Amino acid sequence: MSLLVVGSIALDTIETPFGRADQVAGGSAVYISAAASYFTAPIRLVGVVGSDFPKSEIEFLESRGIDLDGLQVIEGGKTFHWSGRYHYDLNKRDTLDTQLNVFETFNPVLPDSYRKSRYVVLGNIDPVLQRRVIESLDQKPELVICDTMNFWIERKRNELLKTLKKVDVLIVNDSEARLLVSEPNLVKAAKKIMGLGPRIVIIKKGEHGALLFTTNIVFSAPAFPLEFIYDPTGAGDAFAGGFIGHLARTENLSDDNLRRAVVYGSVLASFCVGKFGIEALKNLSDIEILGRYRDFIELSKFED
Ligand code: AMP
Repeated sequence: MSLLVVGSIALDTIETPFGRADQVAGGSAVYISAAASYFTAPIRLVGVVGSDFPKSEIEFLESRGIDLDGLQVIEGGKTFHWSGRYHYDLNKRDTLDTQLNVFETFNPVLPDSYRKSRYVVLGNIDPVLQRRVIESLDQKPELVICDTMNFWIERKRNELLKTLKKVDVLIVNDSEARLLVSEPNLVKAAKKIMGLGPRIVIIKKGEHGALLFTTNIVFSAPAFPLEFIYDPTGAGDAFAGGFIGHLARTENLSDDNLRRAVVYGSVLASFCVGKFGIEALKNLSDIEILGRYRDFIELSKFED
């Protein structure tokens, strides 16, 4: 089922205690669409790059069947650049540099062929632009998922609140959830977020997994206990890609299927962190994905 993805497209420089990657492809839209491409088609990407964005990475996205009609390439412009350094505790990172470049004036324009998309992921961008994307659609989608971050919660709160009224699922991390509704308890925070519009809330807790809240259930999925983690960049976006990918593939929004989608999100996130940048999302097989999904079942199984 058709999936529209809008978000940042970046050249990232990443330092972790285990290595470094310079000017590698990243950004929320890239991680989300690469992860979702293992589940559903067509995926329609909206984003902006400069002429410095490597042709090989565009070819990679095309090779995953991702529709790039909505990709704006600004001749002579420079791609959005983010640079970060992770602590020994990989849940903590410092942003060393952010250069908006062509992203500063990004206006997400949907090609006509995108306007009937049934599933939508609004990656972490200005909430005004996120809302513009929803309003450019010809028909109400089955599901709109929104990600955001501290920066927008603090600086564009009112715009974000307007966008949330049009969103079905909010995916945020624990600190963002607490900040958004000024509530330290995550269960209460999720309930308060539901009062803002989203009927489904997912709170990511880094290496401690993710919580799913609907009006009927609370579900907790662990993060997969991996022996080697090289780079957590994009894990949250890979999670969103696996989550929406499974829902778009199955066209089933029941609580039970939302639980499975959270596990598929966790599966894609677990692969993502195993290599730097998007490398680990380049060559996954259905067997690997299903195998890790079954490992998740085993990980949390217990007898009554
Ligand atoms: P995550 O690790 O899930 O937070 O996602 C990391 C990705 O977010 C990186 O590839 C960055 O290029 C991108 N990113 C970092 N800062 C921003 C920002 N202010 N707006 C949009 N994307 C960003």
